[in-house]
Amino acid sequence: MLDYTAPEKLLKNRIILITGAGDGIGRAAAIDCSRLGATVILLGRTLEKLEAVYDVIERAGHGQPAIYPLDLRTATDEDYIELAEVLEGEFGRLDGLLHNASILGECTPLSQYESRTWRLVMHVNVTAAFMMTKALMPLLDTSKDASVIFTTSGVGAQGKAYWGAYSVSKFAIEGMAQVLAEETENTSSIRVNIINPGATRTNMRAQAYPGEDPGLNLTPESIMPTYQYLLGPDSKGITGKRFNAQEMAKEPKEETNSSDNDFQASEE
Ligand code: NAP
Repeated sequence: MLDYTAPEKLLKNRIILITGAGDGIGRAAAIDCSRLGATVILLGRTLEKLEAVYDVIERAGHGQPAIYPLDLRTATDEDYIELAEVLEGEFGRLDGLLHNASILGECTPLSQYESRTWRLVMHVNVTAAFMMTKALMPLLDTSKDASVIFTTSGVGAQGKAYWGAYSVSKFAIEGMAQVLAEETENTSSIRVNIINPGATRTNMRAQAYPGEDPGLNLTPESIMPTYQYLLGPDSKGITGKRFNAQEMAKEPKEETNSSDNDFQASEE
């Protein structure tokens, strides 16, 4: 069992971009990172959702976030270069990149899977993350310890019937993270890790398991310690690793006064 308690201003002065920040786990991560002092770039496709998250952060008195509407289905290399230029102009660097946005696609046997849906899922879940990472590498390199996180799933390590392109896309994202982690390990201060959130109470989970009682699953807020640990300086030097967010899960407190920094691995 792993335990991590974030110091109060863990992410102070950090510039962190989160994809899919308008809903679910991305929304929770955006609010949590702001609470811990980061300036967060809220990237997603539905402007109203991003604005709602912006309002929550502003009302709470955390640092002012930035909104960057972008649809990963259609964004081109030029769009990602523009994103990099805007961030360069505004912030001059990027300290954290959380690849969180994904789509589920169809839950159906491969023999019946629509090729169009397959291409879309692979594009949003894998190719878009590749294109964005590539464009943002110079900005990540400008940070003194940048953290890149890719989001996987249980079906990204063990294939499961009917999970189709989603499962395959998560295998691919794990592969991409491993490749990038090796490439950056001795050549830069960028670390690259993978988070499997595990069953979490979001729209995607409800879409995948429509008959399930959502109350059985952890909330996005409760799985935040793994994100905090990997986005903050305590994980410096940790790269190429896969984390199960449920192992560090805990109910969030409103505010923490603790200056504890007790990331420990112990056997349970
Ligand atoms: P979610 O509630 O469906 O949220 C996904 C987010 O991605 C939404 O904000 C969505 O925006 C955004 N998004 C989707 N397509 C996009 C596009 N084309 N361009 C830009 N943004 C886009 O999902 P979640 O459960 O929070 O999942 C977050 C991550 O965790 C995903 O990578 C998922 O695979 C992974 N995961 C989740 C679970 C779970 O149980 N929830 C388990 C394992 C892994 P809109 O809301 O505007 O569509």
